[in-house]
Amino acid sequence: MTNTYDAIIIGGGHNGLVAAAYLARAGRKVIVLERRHIVGGAAVTEEIFPGYKFTEFSYVVSLLRPEIIRDLELPKHGLKILPLPSTFTPTENNDYLAAWDDHDLTRREIYRHSPKDAEAYDEYARVMARAAKAIKPIINLIPPDPSSLHPRDLFNLLKVGQYAASLKEKELYTIAKLATQSSADLLEEWFETDALKGTKAASGIIGTFLGPRSPGTAYVLLHHYMGEIDGAFRAWGFAKNGSGGVSGSILSAAESLGVEIKVNASVKQVIVKNPSTSSGQARAVGVALDNGDELQSKVVMSAADPKRTFLQFVEGKHFPDEFITSIQNFRTRGSSGKVNIALSELPNFTALPFEGKGHDSVLHRGAVSISPSIDYIERAYDDAKYGQISKRPYLDMIFPSMIDPDMAPPGQHVMSCFVQYAPYDLEGGWNDAKRNELGEAVISTIEQYAPNIRKAIVGMQVISPKDIEAIAGITGGNIFHGELLLHQIFFLRPTPQWADFRTPLKGYYFGAAGAHPGGGVMGAAGMLAAKEILKDGM
Ligand SMILES: Cc1cc2nc3c(=O)[nH]c(=O)nc-3n(C[C@H](O)[C@H](O)[C@H](O)COP(=O)(O)OP(=O)(O)OC[C@H]3O[C@@H](n4cnc5c(N)ncnc54)[C@H](O)[C@@H]3O)c2cc1C
Repeated sequence: MTNTYDAIIIGGGHNGLVAAAYLARAGRKVIVLERRHIVGGAAVTEEIFPGYKFTEFSYVVSLLRPEIIRDLELPKHGLKILPLPSTFTPTENNDYLAAWDDHDLTRREIYRHSPKDAEAYDEYARVMARAAKAIKPIINLIPPDPSSLHPRDLFNLLKVGQYAASLKEKELYTIAKLATQSSADLLEEWFETDALKGTKAASGIIGTFLGPRSPGTAYVLLHHYMGEIDGAFRAWGFAKNGSGGVSGSILSAAESLGVEIKVNASVKQVIVKNPSTSSGQARAVGVALDNGDELQSKVVMSAADPKRTFLQFVEGKHFPDEFITSIQNFRTRGSSGKVNIALSELPNFTALPFEGKGHDSVLHRGAVSISPSIDYIERAYDDAKYGQISKRPYLDMIFPSMIDPDMAPPGQHVMSCFVQYAPYDLEGGWNDAKRNELGEAVISTIEQYAPNIRKAIVGMQVISPKDIEAIAGITGGNIFHGELLLHQIFFLRPTPQWADFRTPLKGYYFGAAGAHPGGGVMGAAGMLAAKEILKDGM
């Protein structure tokens, strides 16, 4: 094995793997260096208790770019996405609101709560789908620097202009409104049923340190509308073997294209060659690992979070001061936790109980959302605003063993609970007692709706934002590497003038969730960064 490569990718998250695969596909010699013993980053599946496999962080798929699935032939490499057919929201009066995969059933269900909402529902879905479709092309645009006269930026700006000109007037206004509104304001214009508004508003707060009444959350809601599965727009699914199944298929594709993968390889620093003349430019020429090994390459791409990428891997003297300040100010406030539970039986929701063992239960094949109203979620946010774990958190739960039986031993189950809010900057800091408090907030919340949950617990993994940082290696524990706020998207992500995957250090690129178009298991940042590297003639 020689230590010289065309490209070194720091970080084996799914974006790093996607970038490596695209570069190798173009004939480049590529190595991925991952600090953990497995690749996948926040998209991993691990057997935390013997026989019980947890889709440890990320748990549902929708945003993964269809062109990546096609280009890398991911189904051939094991990618299989299973449908998640419903969302069930139990309410505080022992009723529920459900959205099924049958349009008429869902409409009838909403009608049961409010004929007016049932009437509005189809039109709302149409408006959101149109807005998501209208904004979707932005995902594949290279954000230009609007202040630059460089031909590349002018070309990219022209493409943005062409895109904006292609929008109908109505779409433009809807997008402008969605980009600035709160999800509560948006939903209150449409609906009156608390559980409907609460459940829809929840998509607007995921991964942000904002409540549903905060402006900007309607955009986050829209971000979650942009996915598709097998051409079914806006559908969410569960990958066979959890999110590790997605990363596993990209890994297999990358390896088949010749990418070298090195795990337990933590990068300490990017090696920079200083110019021999004062007019020359410094350039990234390789990396040094924590274990002292050094590897050389023509280019280095970081697929870790922006703070590591710019404040840790490279000496500050290689970047302008204002660039460093801007990265320091990039908001990476973690607000979410995850509680993964091994179960001897399924939680039985009193609002729609099952008989027997519940293996034929319909609601457990989909998501269960604890979001009875906008006020409920806003109150959960109030706790977090002042540094506390939400006493009654928003929960998004799925039961992977009901979708993919290989996730748990026969007759047993696993449950994935996404929790918000659990602030990274918790008053008094995170420790085992606080982790227990988070676990208890989750269990006692579920217990209100499914009283058998406590006795069914076989094992429980509680993940705070500090644990997301420690295990997945995401500074600040924000699930998107940085909140999807209006001042942190498109040509401002991660920082103005450097949103096109290049950096002020020549030969050093950045292609992960902290770059355009943001977080989620999308692969877009990795793919676009690889294409820009190739455009630069590497
Ligand atoms: C709790 C949680 C739930 C989520 N749920 C969903 C969901 O259901 N659906 C969805 O679409 N998205 C979800 N997300 C978001 C999504 O998982 C992430 O946005 C996405 O996985 C980020 O991918 P990435 O490749 O950009 O970065 P990461 O996955 O963070 O990968 C970065 C990699 O860099 C490595 N690294 C860091 N430092 C070094 C170093 N010094 N040397 C070498 N390697 C290094 C890390 O170990 C890591 O493997 C969730 C995230 C979390 C945390």
